[in-house]
Amino acid sequence: MSITTRNQAKLLAASRTPQMCNIPTNPQGKFLPVSQYYGENVFDFRLSKNLSQSEKNELQEIQEHKITLSEKLAKSYAHAVLEWALEKGATHFCHWFQPLTGSTAEKHDAFLSFEKNNPVEKLSASQLMQGEPDASSFPNGGSRSTFEARGYTSWDLTSPIFIKENENGRTLFIPTAFVSYHGEALDIKTPLLRSITKLSETASEFCRITGSSNVKRVNTTCGCEQEYFLIDKAFYHQRSDLVMTGRSLFGSLSAKNQQLEDHYFGSIPARVLSFMQEVEIELYRLGIPAKTRHNEVAPGQFEIAPIFEEANIAADHNQLVMTTIREVAIKHDFVAILHEKPFAGINGSGKHVNWSMSDDEGKNLLEPGTNPHENYRFLALVGVVCEALFRHADTIRMGIATHGNDHRLGANEAPPSIISVFLGETLTNIMESLISNAAYKPNGKIVLDLGANQLAQLLKDTTDRNRTSPFAFTGNKFEFRAVGSSAAVGWPVSILNAAIDDILGETNTLIKEYIASGKTIDESLIMIAQKWYKNARNVVFGGDGYSEEWVKEAKSRGLNNFRTMPEAIAVLKDESKTKFLTTSNVYHQSELKTRYNVLLERYITHRKIEFQVLSEMIRKNVLPSAIRYKQQLAQIILEQKEIGFESVVEKTYLKDLNILTENLYTSVNNLESALEAAKAAGHEKTAFKIAQEVMPLSVAAANLCNEIEDLVPESHWDLPTYFDMLFIR
Ligand code: ADP
Ligand code: MG
Repeated sequence: MSITTRNQAKLLAASRTPQMCNIPTNPQGKFLPVSQYYGENVFDFRLSKNLSQSEKNELQEIQEHKITLSEKLAKSYAHAVLEWALEKGATHFCHWFQPLTGSTAEKHDAFLSFEKNNPVEKLSASQLMQGEPDASSFPNGGSRSTFEARGYTSWDLTSPIFIKENENGRTLFIPTAFVSYHGEALDIKTPLLRSITKLSETASEFCRITGSSNVKRVNTTCGCEQEYFLIDKAFYHQRSDLVMTGRSLFGSLSAKNQQLEDHYFGSIPARVLSFMQEVEIELYRLGIPAKTRHNEVAPGQFEIAPIFEEANIAADHNQLVMTTIREVAIKHDFVAILHEKPFAGINGSGKHVNWSMSDDEGKNLLEPGTNPHENYRFLALVGVVCEALFRHADTIRMGIATHGNDHRLGANEAPPSIISVFLGETLTNIMESLISNAAYKPNGKIVLDLGANQLAQLLKDTTDRNRTSPFAFTGNKFEFRAVGSSAAVGWPVSILNAAIDDILGETNTLIKEYIASGKTIDESLIMIAQKWYKNARNVVFGGDGYSEEWVKEAKSRGLNNFRTMPEAIAVLKDESKTKFLTTSNVYHQSELKTRYNVLLERYITHRKIEFQVLSEMIRKNVLPSAIRYKQQLAQIILEQKEIGFESVVEKTYLKDLNILTENLYTSVNNLESALEAAKAAGHEKTAFKIAQEVMPLSVAAANLCNEIEDLVPESHWDLPTYFDMLFIR
């Protein structure tokens, strides 16, 4: 049925039933355990029939970064991949990459080729390793002139190759980095990989000089909890704001919104659960370890979290999680909304990026240990993290800046735009007693004995959850909670890694000095913990991050609060603040410039679209609805007068609606002229004017729309409401 009215959409949405998908079964028709099909669409060289044992051994060493890939092995590898892909029914391959748009890009090529006029399937080593997408239309921030606008994609052999299935075919996906011919990173992945390598070098040196002499590599680990909304497809297509901007630009809150908070961890609606199950099956096939699923705080909001992985893979997998959520939602007649703030006045969506480091034996460096040495090392690293967040707060804040996240950070539901670190009461007290050289008494009686298992146990038992902190210690990792739901995590994680690397590098130098001057390793570690914690104490905050008091207190502590994206990204132009990114070679200066331009452009473009769509909806939907109702009221008033009947209700309604209509008309005119003025101001000034002048006008216009929506009867309101979208399912 073609849906033309809101009522039809409501009927359709209310009548939908859970949808089945293909659950992997054995020949007898019984459901297979996940372990039996987990990763079936991922190429695993260890299982390949087309590679010899010595080739597999060599590949293992390449993965462990011990040697590089030879041409000969690349050929065998490409052959093995091709054989596997053909067996799986793939017809095409693509280089899959993450341009600066924040999403992913892919260009497909058929395996089909011809040898002496005969059709054959081919994937050469060079096709596997390098590709040349027509890159001129990817954002480059003005870093390339058109004649040299070609970049190339280059195989990232640390992230697994996989197959994506569609109804009518299968495609081999090769994860790649995207760089210019001058070696400039045009993507999210390249700097992330650089940051991982750099941090690995510095952190393994740290391990070695503090006693773990065998450590050669330290992995950054990440687990990304992904929040999203689901609304029925029928409503989505009737709201041009959702289609064009990913969020509702106005909408009156229904009487029962999230005030009841009954949605969180409530039972998952059947239709949603069947969607989640299909998402998980798809993710398992792709070797993505989906672990938890639940309702979130807002109605219509949900979360999925995989088990953590090495950061580069976690970043790729998070992109696949987002894509899978979107694609599977459509099959279930939903639309998944990953915007940070799709519905004003209701909780937005974030992506909690859980972050830690582990050595080559898989030992988590942020896990308190069972002996004094491990605990001193843990406390020193906590100091390092605090100092990194303190010293590089502005750049870290920049890394999570998006126009969508502007609605969320500091909106009484998400961590504020002020970067702070939450350690929990116990750990804070331990750090405090360290700097005052006092013995720490966990329960007022026993002095903490770092010699026993006590610290680990204590932190396990007492790590309180602070959901208002942008960066919280959660027992054995930090949870970066301020990242936006639609973000490509490679970007903030690369900055975080570089920040940690910076302080850890200084730490290594200091430790070597301490040891040279006769201190023991453990004494040195304590001195490091003390030094950094003492210096960075102002960034540590355990109170309510959503409160107005914190905004004031942070100011007195000298912590910055960049509320909007233009303010936040200006940091990229301040070399004193970004120096750590360039000295570590995680970014080149030109790449930062590129990113600044791309981010600025993105902010301006997204906001412009929002304002245009808002104006259009006001003129095509809201004002006409109001006018229709006014006409009806006027008619009634006239008719009543004719028969000598007096009633105040209609007159009051008409008067109120008239005022609102006039105000909205003025408001939308003001919005449009302010936007024109902002555009005329030119680039950077445009962004600031949009954030400071046009945005408040759009909020004012949206509020008037909401007031009109409240006044106009259901029958006259043609746009799906918050109630429709959030509760009809
Ligand atoms: P919560 O909602 O309480 O924060 P979840 O279980 O939903 O907890 O998410 C925690 C996330 O942190 C998971 O993705 C988990 O795998 C991840 N995680 C656990 N340990 C580490 C670690 N050492 N490094 C990175 N991420 C981790
Ligand atoms: Mg969490």
